[in-house]
Amino acid sequence: MNRRKFLGFLAGGAALSAAGWSMAKPAVVNPCRAAIPVRLLDSPWLKQAWAGIDPAGLWDCHVHLAGLGDGGSGIELGPQLSSPLQPVHYAQRLFYMNAGCAHDAPGAVDAAYTARLLNLCDAMPEGFKVMLFAFERFHDAAGHAHPEHSAFYVPNAWAAKLAREFPARFEWVASLHPYHATAVADLQLAIANGARAVKWLPAAQGMDPASAKCDAFYRVLAASGTPLIVHCGEEKAVKGSDTQAFGNPLRLRRALDLGVKVVVAHCATMGTDLDDDGKVRSSFDLFLKAMAEPRAKGLLHGDLSAITLRNRQPAVIRTLLEREDLHERLLHGSDYPLPGILPLISSATLARAGLLPKEAVADLDTLREHNPLLFDFVLKRLLNWQGHSFSPAVFNTRRLFSVSQA
Ligand SMILES: [Zn+2]
Repeated sequence: MNRRKFLGFLAGGAALSAAGWSMAKPAVVNPCRAAIPVRLLDSPWLKQAWAGIDPAGLWDCHVHLAGLGDGGSGIELGPQLSSPLQPVHYAQRLFYMNAGCAHDAPGAVDAAYTARLLNLCDAMPEGFKVMLFAFERFHDAAGHAHPEHSAFYVPNAWAAKLAREFPARFEWVASLHPYHATAVADLQLAIANGARAVKWLPAAQGMDPASAKCDAFYRVLAASGTPLIVHCGEEKAVKGSDTQAFGNPLRLRRALDLGVKVVVAHCATMGTDLDDDGKVRSSFDLFLKAMAEPRAKGLLHGDLSAITLRNRQPAVIRTLLEREDLHERLLHGSDYPLPGILPLISSATLARAGLLPKEAVADLDTLREHNPLLFDFVLKRLLNWQGHSFSPAVFNTRRLFSVSQA
């Protein structure tokens, strides 16, 4: 897909509107500027964001790898993401590639995506790292992989290789299906190879966190202190099979009871799930309920990735800011490349909702064009509701991930 075709596709627009993206703003395509303008380096907002933060403790714990599999990465795009006959998913793929600014590198998209990430990290102080996610295929109940039902596949080996080659900036997170015949051995190997956590997206990958089939996997995670990052709530970014219920935060009790540290991605800030009484409640409310249970103490966490996307409610951000009792258990994550997709986050809208100083919007908008990783960090540092902002502990994420032992 060359740039002209890409832009031509965007001009169609319909598929994007169907996917929920607003086409109202002209800046749909991220201009991919590299260096940060000198003027911004003196921005008081940037200075305020870094005040009191130890960059060596700041690992962005939610960063996606993407690519086309054209650089030896082994990345595979499922039929949903590669066929123009599936316009919504197809447009999403193009959007993601643009967010990572890899669309101008025909034949070398995998490498361009990685180079761009390193380039963005260069603007961050020494010590800052990103945690790169592998992404497992959809598996059936018997533990067999089904590429045809998988939107996306990023091999563990690719994420591990990047972390090995660029240890100053990259850590890696394995993605393994617990039903797979060799899951336990694969997990032990991943931990031995430096995996800092395991990432599941149950709705797309087909694992039920409440199933006894996960127990052996959970025991290895618990014994090694390796956190499990689980996407809970509605899954919009990639579509797998009809398994949305697997993302119910209450289904994580089994892992917690076996002593596994669990991170609920996005704090389950989208969608609805069934409560214990059979009533439908917001997934976010069920996340808060799970956080309050005694079994969750010291084990259950939430990451702040994607909470500022337009498809989230400001009320959710307000609650997270106000609940200072939870801040020790919340973790900074950007969901990169999503913050680089211009229409998905609007600083101006957040300012109008009273969550950001209006004066910071112009600098944030410039920052987003140049560095979505830094933008997301500064944005979350500046979020404020009636005097409540996220505690610096939220940005000291490394403490949770640097303890895992093979
Ligand atoms: Zn994500």
